Amino acid sequence: MATRHEFKTEVRQLLQLMINSLYSNRDIFLRELVANAADAIDKARLESLTDPAQARDWKIRIEADKNLKTLSISDNGIGMTEQEVLDNIGTIAQSGTRAFMKMLEEKGTKGEDLPELIGQFGVGFYSAFMAASEVTVVTKKSGSDAPAVLWRSQGEGEFEIDTAEREEPGTTVTLKLKEDAEIYLEHWKVSSIIRKYSDFISYPIVMPKVTVNEDKTETVTDEVLNSQKAIWLRKPSEVTEDEYKSFYSGLSNYGGTEYLKAIHMSAEGTSEFKALLFLPKQAPFNLLMPDIQKKGLQLYVTRVFITDECKDLLPDYLRFVCGVVDSSDLPLNVSREILQDNPIIGRIEKAVTARIITELKKLLENDREHYEAFFTEFGRILKEGLHTDFTNGEKLKDVVMYQSMNHEPGKFITLGEYVDAMPEGQNEIFYITGEKRAALDSYPGLEYFKAKGWDVLFMTDPVDDWIMQSMMQYRKHNFKSIAKGDFEDKESEEAMKKAGETYKELTEFIKETLSGQLAEVRFSARMTDSPCCLIVEGNALSPHIERLFKAMHQQIPETKRILELNPKHPLIEKLNAALQAGKKDEAASAAKVMFAQALITEGSPLDDPAGFAKSVTELLVKSL
Ligand code: ADP
Repeated sequence: MATRHEFKTEVRQLLQLMINSLYSNRDIFLRELVANAADAIDKARLESLTDPAQARDWKIRIEADKNLKTLSISDNGIGMTEQEVLDNIGTIAQSGTRAFMKMLEEKGTKGEDLPELIGQFGVGFYSAFMAASEVTVVTKKSGSDAPAVLWRSQGEGEFEIDTAEREEPGTTVTLKLKEDAEIYLEHWKVSSIIRKYSDFISYPIVMPKVTVNEDKTETVTDEVLNSQKAIWLRKPSEVTEDEYKSFYSGLSNYGGTEYLKAIHMSAEGTSEFKALLFLPKQAPFNLLMPDIQKKGLQLYVTRVFITDECKDLLPDYLRFVCGVVDSSDLPLNVSREILQDNPIIGRIEKAVTARIITELKKLLENDREHYEAFFTEFGRILKEGLHTDFTNGEKLKDVVMYQSMNHEPGKFITLGEYVDAMPEGQNEIFYITGEKRAALDSYPGLEYFKAKGWDVLFMTDPVDDWIMQSMMQYRKHNFKSIAKGDFEDKESEEAMKKAGETYKELTEFIKETLSGQLAEVRFSARMTDSPCCLIVEGNALSPHIERLFKAMHQQIPETKRILELNPKHPLIEKLNAALQAGKKDEAASAAKVMFAQALITEGSPLDDPAGFAKSVTELLVKSL
């Protein structure tokens, strides 16, 4: 008996969009349905490895009926039970659907980029409604005695479920084509779409073709539309740009057909495998969303699909890479449990990682512009490897890039370039971490380095602080934060010591005035133009990381800053003079303003901004 069901809200909204938008490329609905059919066969084929009775002549079949104006896509794959039909295409809003709608709401789209986005979120089935006014699914679960299930919908809020006649396991999706979509009844049209998007699908995609004989009778033959050649087994020189693009668009969870580089691997010896890997061009807007973070690579064993999310084939910090690995060493009936901590997988991961790093280095050397663009998108992820990959850490240091004080905003330099440019007398690699370039540029602690002509690396990713904990050296030069720990400068040592003695009373007075807010007040030659700056202890968290944690409502110990004073600045002298003249109140209020300014330049919020504004106003009134 037929039952009616309502779509979940998100699904209904999605369908509305599919039905009502105008598309630049609506051909992709066929790619999506064929991909689903191939996935279903992959699954059935995997089961048949342990249950040979289930093996059959795997095939995807496309039929067009010009009288009924229907196009159907059939597979003899795994099929669905009634519950699975309900879960997968209807009542349950899949997380992908929800994420997709949320993204549309936030970003807004006129529909042109919709086809690109559909694949990205795993909502492909619904794209059938771009071309169909009604979609019917008849499906029978492989290996089950339950009757076949029918699902039908016009995409308008409701769908119908019923039992159906079907003997062979698998699924048929039938589209009643919209009037303006009747082109999809044409053999040439279907076959050109399949060649474009689904040529590498490893099962035959057949479509009956009618040929008119000399005696005017007609012969119908099944024509295979795709070459089925696994693209990763072919020679790179034989693969066209378009083939790479369509393969990439099917693989990538970032959407789009644009990739930066395709990498073929063919490994022999201790582990034998072939791989085709892609460096993506653009990071998805949700790069940092946890569920999209790591998908892993597709794994095949001697051309048989095993899983499309083998996470152990890539280290976390290369999670933006997508592609296929085809191993000859693993057993065919490998299970997911076997894959975990598998030494063969481990060896492949090692080889793949080394190769990707080599390719990144080549790209950096030969195509700087593209590498910088790549690094802007994915550098923050790649850098994680500096902290986590002990084997390749040194090699990764060669390919990471940073902005720096001596280079204009937006320009990246490598550590190698930094070291090469170090003048006589500079032995360490200086850096500072912070939120953004603009704030770092005006940090008073840079002044000394500017005067010396020593460059300072600007590290503005939140992960940088964490990474720098384990970055000890590059080419035998130590890394040193210019906003942390002691400042060492032989030439000024004597002068600072003297300043400490001369202004002893002043430093104590400032410390007292700002009681509780400072760990120490001292003199240093870090600054040339500014009166003071704030520093943290060598192993303390940077102020911006502290702020980040606070923003996430995380409890962390607050580190008290060290206030360093510039003895050559007139303000210090004037403060001291005021103190000596007994004008304690004036000196205290000036010290408070000076400290507040140091907090502002470091990017930290003030505890009492109104109090600060009031003091500044008073000073202005006095000075005018
Ligand atoms: P995705 O394929 O990305 O998961 P879809 O919206 O295309 O998203 O499909 C939703 C789900 O419906 C699939 O994950 C699968 O479980 C099921 N499905 C779709 N088409 C078929 C099919 N031909 N055979 C079996 N299951 C299918």
